[in-house]
Amino acid sequence: MPKIEQGGFSTRCVHAGEMMDAQGAIHTPLYNHSTFGFPSTAALLDVVEGRKSGNLYTRYGLNPTLRSLEEKLASLEGGERTLAFSSGMAAETATFMTYAPAGSHILCLGDVYGGTIELLEKILPDAGVETTFLLGSEQEQLKSACRENTRLLFLETPTNPNMEVFDIAKLAQVCRSLNILLVVDNTFASPYNQLPLSLGADLVIHSATKYLGGHSDLTGGVVIGPKDKVEPIWLRRKALGQVMAPDVAFLLLRSLRTLAVRVEKQNQSALAVAQFLSRHPRIRKTNYPGLSDFPGHEIAKKQMRGFGGMISFEVKASKEATIAFVDALKVFSIAPSLGGVESLVTMPITTTHYGLPAEERNRRGISDSLVRISIGLEDTGDLIADLEQALEK
Ligand SMILES: *Cc1c(COP(=O)(O)O)cnc(C)c1O
Repeated sequence: MPKIEQGGFSTRCVHAGEMMDAQGAIHTPLYNHSTFGFPSTAALLDVVEGRKSGNLYTRYGLNPTLRSLEEKLASLEGGERTLAFSSGMAAETATFMTYAPAGSHILCLGDVYGGTIELLEKILPDAGVETTFLLGSEQEQLKSACRENTRLLFLETPTNPNMEVFDIAKLAQVCRSLNILLVVDNTFASPYNQLPLSLGADLVIHSATKYLGGHSDLTGGVVIGPKDKVEPIWLRRKALGQVMAPDVAFLLLRSLRTLAVRVEKQNQSALAVAQFLSRHPRIRKTNYPGLSDFPGHEIAKKQMRGFGGMISFEVKASKEATIAFVDALKVFSIAPSLGGVESLVTMPITTTHYGLPAEERNRRGISDSLVRISIGLEDTGDLIADLEQALEK
């Protein structure tokens, strides 16, 4: 039973969806159980046939810990219904399988996560689904790229790694006029900073592995939206066996209670770090939506509460010297992923965009000296000092 349904974002982080069990646990306990019992067949049928909400079988998502998590996330993202998955990729797969059946076509705008490209390019064609990829600069071609069988537009904003910002409200209108769904991967922003559903998106996807989890110790994904658009995805999650494990849901519930304070601090730190980098003589270019001269700044100001914890920048150096700079960092760990309490650094050419032909990397503006950082919860001064000492080397 949720105690508090309303309130501000931080209040809902703590209270939305939480339940007390018969022991009076102060928030949702972990129910690792795979199955749940009933006093009678009639009571079981009430749940099976949807007359009553309840617990039944964990793979179906009918588990108290999972339902509590899904309720909290729906509240935070401003949706009616959430489905929790074993990973962000599982959430994407189930969503595409639901809304892009065999013979249909997907539009993908801007840079997206490497795993998403792999899914759209290498897996979905086997299921008879084609995707057209458009660069952010090709946004105006959306209408002409839309076909009779196009079902949805998929995008991230801000994007990885160049932090490109798309106008969600404007694109939602375009999608409505084309009669296709707008699916937004909100992983980089987190619901604290950006609420795509309120701007007209049909569905929001997260890799919960990043900001929602926030501690680099869990893997998960979610889809959030209105009931009628999320419910059809439920059958895919169930039949494909993609549900999030209850112990992961329990950990994620704990993470979400601190989402607002974590992301607020990351916003503040990242802005200070981005300003430092943008003034540094050894940095060619800093990509951060919070910088007033960044191309996406005006749209970001309109649709984001804060500008997030992700920054990328180009060092005025060769590939080898950039690697030396990255290796000289002490507070930042060299690792892919993002959104955790610890600051991380990667060079896209060595991780997310490894193996992409040079020509394609150039087209996408990913140079050999591009560095991406995820700002954690360390003292801002320590992060800046670390970057400064490594840049001097
Ligand atoms: C990590 C990531 C994903 C994939 O999520 P997993 O939890 O690793 O499956 C999808 N989109 C974005 C933007 C990501 O950063």
